[in-house]
Amino acid sequence: MPEGHTVHRVAGLFRRVFVGQVVAASSPQGRFSQGAAMLDGLVVDDAWAVGKQFFAGFGGDWVLRVHLGIYGAWSVHGVRQTDSLGAPRKKSPAEEGLRQLAVDQFPPEPVGQVRLRVMSDTVVADLRGPTACEVISHEEAATLAQALGPDPLVGDDVVNRERFIERMSRTATPVGIALMNQKIVSGIGNVYRAELLFRHRLDPFIPARSISTDQLGSLWDDWAVLLRRGVKTGVMVTRDDLSPAGAKKALRDRKLRHFVYKRQGEPCLVCGHEVVMAPMQARKLYYCPHCQTAQ
Ligand SMILES: [Zn+2]
Repeated sequence: MPEGHTVHRVAGLFRRVFVGQVVAASSPQGRFSQGAAMLDGLVVDDAWAVGKQFFAGFGGDWVLRVHLGIYGAWSVHGVRQTDSLGAPRKKSPAEEGLRQLAVDQFPPEPVGQVRLRVMSDTVVADLRGPTACEVISHEEAATLAQALGPDPLVGDDVVNRERFIERMSRTATPVGIALMNQKIVSGIGNVYRAELLFRHRLDPFIPARSISTDQLGSLWDDWAVLLRRGVKTGVMVTRDDLSPAGAKKALRDRKLRHFVYKRQGEPCLVCGHEVVMAPMQARKLYYCPHCQTAQ
């Protein structure tokens, strides 16, 4: 599932390739024909992300809101030579929620169930399988964003940090659940949740409010570091015990990136005991019961 870093990358990509451009919008699949018609022929004003929510302003009046959910993804194709996404390439490294491809033919035929196609003269972005895709007003977008927990890349860091600590401090649910609650903190999904808890040796089952203010503060600071790193690389490398060469390898090899995520049954990289998986609110939680005992 795409986590906050991917959504910020999508917003950054929209800013680079679409902002200031008149775009064509369509719904090849047909499920978003009405919404696409509202955006078609308008200038893209801005694009931004708050946690897992993506917003793009169109023509001064409208905002496109997209939530990728578990299966959603954008595919972005650029014209060869003039590809503004970077060096032309056939295949980019696998990145959940976002694929950038150069194509020989432009525009390429839509492949599969494309809910929304946004197209400039040189770039086409195809959205498939989102949980939410709608056109709303700026007021509605602002209300929605306000209801979300702080995102380290949006707004003032001191305020955000305080809000995070304050919200966690009055949450009785286990910290493993609280971190995934987008009203408490924005952008954390299953991978970042498991890895943040491990990095702080926190027992996932203790109530969020039982954690000290200092510990919560450092949890927030660490989330900000991981998110920035994810936005930069497009990949969630959450281990900090890697050599520079190892870190490079981890960018290409999913299996080397994490301390505990999807490592159930394997030895913990720190203590050697077995990493376990337990369901937590219908999502798989990975942790090391031997290391993660901090209260
Ligand atoms: Zn361990």
